[in-house]
Amino acid sequence: MDGRADLRVDLHSHTCWSPDAATTPADLVERAAEAGLDRVAVTDHGEIAGAFEARALDPERIIVGEEIRCRCGTELIGLFLVERIPMGLDAREVAERIADQGGVVYAPHPYAYPRRALARARRALDLAEAVEVVNARAAFFPPWNRMAGRRAGELGMPTCAGSDAHFPHELGHAFSVIPAFRSVAEFREALAGSRPVLRRATGPWMHVASMALKAGRKVEARVRAGGAGGGRRSARRPGSLEVVEET
Ligand SMILES: [Zn+2]
Repeated sequence: MDGRADLRVDLHSHTCWSPDAATTPADLVERAAEAGLDRVAVTDHGEIAGAFEARALDPERIIVGEEIRCRCGTELIGLFLVERIPMGLDAREVAERIADQGGVVYAPHPYAYPRRALARARRALDLAEAVEVVNARAAFFPPWNRMAGRRAGELGMPTCAGSDAHFPHELGHAFSVIPAFRSVAEFREALAGSRPVLRRATGPWMHVASMALKAGRKVEARVRAGGAGGGRRSARRPGSLEVVEET
């Protein structure tokens, strides 16, 4: 290589385009810089609009991604996406759609499921190119990250880390130190040299905050839809942040 410095890379974060996250794309970009992160993948649940917004604000730092729940309940992350992938598809189709876009299939927190964790992990690790072995939000229950690390080692897969931040202060809790890359092809090569770092485990109460945020938005959407005859929510864009942030 040409001696370029390693990068601090968070491959898993959310904006307010996720129903359970509060960070605006502008907050994310600002906090990522403060936290010393060189690259951040924005991986909203079933949505990439927030990632595009963040990338428009900071094209060098932001990687467009998406966290996609598959039909079987397994979650996969697509990195370097250009188009949204719908949720609820077969996991293999999700992986194919990520590959078709030239993206990278990443397995987030493969064991951190309340049910059917082993089957879901097997499915994700079967399809992924790299494994999240340190998820700051899963770190309060050590077996989840430990199992991911052990299995990735057995399979000889690249190991990465991410904050899974849903609120701004969580950014920087975990990241990978990865040899510098300028393209998806270089990223793929660099993955082999990834070193996961956990700075700080995010407390389980942040999951509660996310659930409360999501529930509050659902109620608000229902109230709004009630006035309009109970139609489907037309846009994911949360309008309820002012309300929810007061709690
Ligand atoms: Zn996530």
